[in-house]
Amino acid sequence: MNVLVLGPQGSGKGTQAKRICAAHGIPHVSTGDMFRAAISEGTDLGRQVEPILASGELVPDELTVALIRERLSRDDASRGFVLDGFPRNLLQAEELDQMLEAIGRPLDTVLFFDLDDETATVRALGRAHEEGRTDDTPEVMARRLAIYHEQTEPVIERYIAAGTLHTLAADRGVDDVFAEIEDALRQVAR
Ligand code: ADP
Repeated sequence: MNVLVLGPQGSGKGTQAKRICAAHGIPHVSTGDMFRAAISEGTDLGRQVEPILASGELVPDELTVALIRERLSRDDASRGFVLDGFPRNLLQAEELDQMLEAIGRPLDTVLFFDLDDETATVRALGRAHEEGRTDDTPEVMARRLAIYHEQTEPVIERYIAAGTLHTLAADRGVDDVFAEIEDALRQVAR
């Protein structure tokens, strides 16, 4: 099963992505997690992207697309994956389409976590305390939401047009949202 999760910061998509992966035994492919791992390991990539993540801007497409291309080509992704944090703009969406077509693995469904900016901000800033993330200050959070509206929302339109989008009301509890996701995944598994 090949699943894409899309939605603003704080919408709970990362949490749900992990649950889907645990339930279905498929890898969680999260660009944000991969960049943070590179930073904590102190690799070249990590050094390159650290100031970008701290500012809330997007990492250049070449770096992000190469990272995803390599990750999806690994063996463990051949039985499925949950992609989280990519694509974040239309160019990345086009690259993803081409990659998946080349390996003959189209997306089964796109889960869109719908949440208003205010709730998203409150949740993401709360998470900053728990996880010690440096990109969840009010200023950086505002910048990340602005980029989301400008660059990522057009990606949602694209999947609506393709007919693969499933919209979830993300202002509910984790278990409620997960129950709806499992229903949606049962539909596409048929
Ligand atoms: P969140 O889901 O909280 O927005 P992520 O953990 O997905 O955050 O991403 C954190 C940061 O990593 C982003 O603000 C951005 O700097 C970088 N990043 C993640 N995915 C991408 C991507 N697809 N393209 C460019 N930059 C990315």
